[in-house]
Amino acid sequence: MPGTLYLVATPIGNLADITIRGLDVLRSVDIIACEDTRHTRKLLSHYEISTKLVSYHEHNEDARAEELAKKLAAGASIAVVSDAGMPGICDPGFKIVGRAVEAGANVIAIPGACAFVLAAVTSGLATDALLFGGFLPSKSGERRRRLAEVADIPATLIFYEAPHRVAGSLKDCAAVLGDRNAAAARELTKLHEETRRGRLSDLAKYYEENVAKGEFVVVIERASGEHLHLSSEPDKFVERVVELEREGLDRRAAMRKAAKEFGLARAEAYRMLQSQKER
Ligand code: SAM
Repeated sequence: MPGTLYLVATPIGNLADITIRGLDVLRSVDIIACEDTRHTRKLLSHYEISTKLVSYHEHNEDARAEELAKKLAAGASIAVVSDAGMPGICDPGFKIVGRAVEAGANVIAIPGACAFVLAAVTSGLATDALLFGGFLPSKSGERRRRLAEVADIPATLIFYEAPHRVAGSLKDCAAVLGDRNAAAARELTKLHEETRRGRLSDLAKYYEENVAKGEFVVVIERASGEHLHLSSEPDKFVERVVELEREGLDRRAAMRKAAKEFGLARAEAYRMLQSQKER
């Protein structure tokens, strides 16, 4: 009989955030596959668990998934944990799940902390539809393109972000998505946990002026009528400006005329042109 693969959520900062069931599973499985054995060993020793650990990270994911799938097929029980939160969420996990399914094993998730879920529910923004976009690209041009792809999705947008990129990312978000309401959640479940709420431009300014520390989740209001226009039409709008310039209008007059035609406020039209220029 094939065995069972457990995906066990571990704390994202506060060691107490692991369930009784999660601890029982970690204690009783044959093997725990983890991103960093030293990191997981600290968690296990805190709870006096001595189960065998093997590494399972982005560099050995394919080979290890194969090897663990064979053990599952032979009846082993295996837990997968990442360094923090839910395995498979911006962390290794999904490959071993695929292999486990092929091997006929049961796959069971043991719930617990997951940073984007905590950030979503504390943001104060709508949670009926969420788009979790993982990490945005690190380069501004790619980031803006990615943001343009998701701009009109009728859902609250959520991204993970590194502290040294948070100000730049928030700035790009404001330029591409419009100045929506947002929340930046930092150090969730930790001593210095903090959620700042405000317009994207205000948050960008704040983190430009105050060095951001710790881990971040950015949560952004869904596109409203005003923002839908801003994000869905930029290419057409810019094309129209160029066309009017070709017809002899100077840039300023062309922008004003096109803004009127598209029903855009002047500031929005200007932002749209700027964001296209910076791509
Ligand atoms: N598997 C994890 C989960 O379930 O949330 C995510 C792992 S991903 C490699 C790490 C990113 O998650 C960080 O860069 C940060 O954006 C976010 N994150 C993790 N812990 C966090 C925390 N305590 N507070 C805020 N964001 C956190």
